[in-house]
Amino acid sequence: VDLVRRVQAMQEMARQARGTGKKIAFVPTMGALHDGHLSLVRRARELGDVVVVSVFVNPKQFGPAEDFTRYPRDLARDADLCIQESVDHLFAPEPDEMYPPGHRTFVDMEGLTTVLEGAARPNHFRGVLTVVMKLLHIVKPHFAFFGQKDAQQALVIRRMVKDLNLDAEIVVAPTVRHEDGLALSSRNAYLGPAERAAATVLSRALARARQLVEREEVRSARAVEAAVREVLAGEPRARIDYVAVVDAETLEPREEITGETLIPLAVFVGGTRLIDNALVRPPAAPRPPAGDLA
Ligand code: AMP
Repeated sequence: VDLVRRVQAMQEMARQARGTGKKIAFVPTMGALHDGHLSLVRRARELGDVVVVSVFVNPKQFGPAEDFTRYPRDLARDADLCIQESVDHLFAPEPDEMYPPGHRTFVDMEGLTTVLEGAARPNHFRGVLTVVMKLLHIVKPHFAFFGQKDAQQALVIRRMVKDLNLDAEIVVAPTVRHEDGLALSSRNAYLGPAERAAATVLSRALARARQLVEREEVRSARAVEAAVREVLAGEPRARIDYVAVVDAETLEPREEITGETLIPLAVFVGGTRLIDNALVRPPAAPRPPAGDLA
């Protein structure tokens, strides 16, 4: 893998690849790579001629009291994993390289960024959108890959790409989980053994929601949300930040679960804040009996 630390060098590489007709596939990350990231890299390897992974812990998307300084960083290990996955370029700039003194331009979005994660983490999505916009201009990908694990992030990025006519196709890939259901996350490294066991409560709560909607045909969002909260409340180490039942495209609260519905949640387990979500839909309406012409 070719380690690139400068914006200009990465842009030059991207220009050359495009100039020779190559398809660039890009996976932006904050590093401490795990199988969730690597599932995106493998999709990228399938679709692209040139695969670029970025590792950048973006200071602009962390709040002042958040974990920016202690976020796990291990570039040597990330580089080894990139070699194993046949990544072509690993773009890992320092914060000063991405935000040199004098930087003062940001990407902002109305509505979608002020609810859920955006309500819990003011300015988070402003930081995310700004860095993704910059990375798309630096890496110039034909395809960029994001995980459904961060459902709201994937949604706002798709929205930005549409709204600002960006020339990249956004691919969203399913959440990779441990066998016990816990979604892979770099922040799982913060969990002690008892917390790691307790953290399965997120996926258990979401599985309960899925069962209610898809098997028991419960349509009341209020009832589903209450059931999720009840499962979470059963774990003494867990403290709910938010649980919601929303339209998967607009993020507006649902009363009745009809179309594609997102159930996002954020939960503190000990001192670690974890997020997860489930996309659910009511079972298809029964077909009319054969011969019954409408
Ligand atoms: P991060 O390094 O946490 O910013 O994540 C980088 C990308 O990997 C984002 O698009 C995430 O949604 C995605 N990602 C993180 N964890 C997972 C997971 N468990 N499964 C699938 N994608 C993931």
